[in-house]
Amino acid sequence: MSFLSAIAVISLLVMFPVLLSLRKTGVPGIASFSAACVLTTLAASVAMAESIEPVWFHTILEGILAVAAGLLMLRGFQQFLGRKPLDAWPVAIVLASVTTALLFFSYVTDDDAARISVGAGVLSLICFLTGATILRNWPRERAIGPYMLFCCVMAFLVAGLDAFRVATVMAGLDAVGDILDPPIWTTAYLVARLLITPLFFLGIILMLHGWMIASLRHMIAHDDLTGALSRRAFMTTFERMSSTAAVSGRQTAFMLLDLDRFKQINDLHGHAGGDTALVHFTHIVRETLAGRGILGRLGGEEFGIALAGTGRLDVTEIAEAICTAVRTTPARANTGTEISLTVSIGIAMVSPGGSLADAMVQADVALYEAKALGRDRLSIAGSLHAASVASARALAGAAAQMRATVGPAQPLSNTG
Ligand code: GH3
Ligand code: MG
Ligand code: MG
Repeated sequence: MSFLSAIAVISLLVMFPVLLSLRKTGVPGIASFSAACVLTTLAASVAMAESIEPVWFHTILEGILAVAAGLLMLRGFQQFLGRKPLDAWPVAIVLASVTTALLFFSYVTDDDAARISVGAGVLSLICFLTGATILRNWPRERAIGPYMLFCCVMAFLVAGLDAFRVATVMAGLDAVGDILDPPIWTTAYLVARLLITPLFFLGIILMLHGWMIASLRHMIAHDDLTGALSRRAFMTTFERMSSTAAVSGRQTAFMLLDLDRFKQINDLHGHAGGDTALVHFTHIVRETLAGRGILGRLGGEEFGIALAGTGRLDVTEIAEAICTAVRTTPARANTGTEISLTVSIGIAMVSPGGSLADAMVQADVALYEAKALGRDRLSIAGSLHAASVASARALAGAAAQMRATVGPAQPLSNTG
């Protein structure tokens, strides 16, 4: 069994630098998990030296290290899951109580069963709390779900195995058995108990990696000021939406939104006021959309909305509702001043198999017309009012510009 103990210690030693390398990423709980890994490695190393006297070394020290590691692990999960982490005083009380009890059962009564019960019992309880904390605060991020499930199972397994150990010891049975002639269940118990801790830390590392990848993906796919999709993510999703809609012969609607006289807003309320207005605008549009389409920030104060399977009439209604909501709900600057906003919207429909780039150009021309007609309104491509020479010129110019800028969208696996 010392061979397996050595494997457990070596695995934990290997995992520590991996955990440490993740510290710079700022993943919540990483410091607690790293410290827990160090203490668990020390506890496992001390446990290997079972034959070494005195008793304080192999029993008391192992018990204290394992309980401290368990508390750090619980704290790590609380931090990772956004819960208030354990304060220092309950940690100090638990550690002081465990130390006192272990000293008492070593030097006053010399009760081996009581010593095992204290160490394993407290650890079992902490691991049970860890499993329950994970279950109660299940993360929304689906990408880390499988790793969380693995960690949760590991926590409950440690809790169960240690509770079983306490139960057998208290019942006067020798749960850990004689290692030279073990009953099969004792061997199974020991193997499981030794290997479960490195597996638990492996689960934690995978969970932290999953979190990092998910947050990087989210960062790439979203504009950091407004939280709307980035231009690239919007284009990828728009493309996917319209090809899915095309399969069932449905149209996709595209809206190009541009805030009116935004330069003036910046001049009046400062750049920070402008930023607040952009965040507010995104919020209003999202509320009005109510999940019916995707919203992307295409650049500056220009946004795009794509709605799959939406007809001309519906998209017009939604665009009108957006114009009204933006006009009637002013933003509020940090200074408390109201910032009045209006938006102009150009709309184009993408027929099944139609080109997105063409639709974007048409929406741009429609937007140009909405601006020319006085702003704070929508205009639909294909039903333009008197097509003036100017808008015809604009169409040609905008088309050339769009063809130059709208390249083929790169695939992106997660667009949030
Ligand atoms: P129009 O009604 O014709 O659209 O007028 P406009 O003033 O909005 O015209 P234009 O599109 O030329 O100006 C956009 C302004 O938006 C210019 C730029 O300074 C500002 N802007 C772009 N991005 C940001 C941003 O992230 N924050 C702030 N505060 N301002 C921005
Ligand atoms: Mg503008
Ligand atoms: Mg603009």
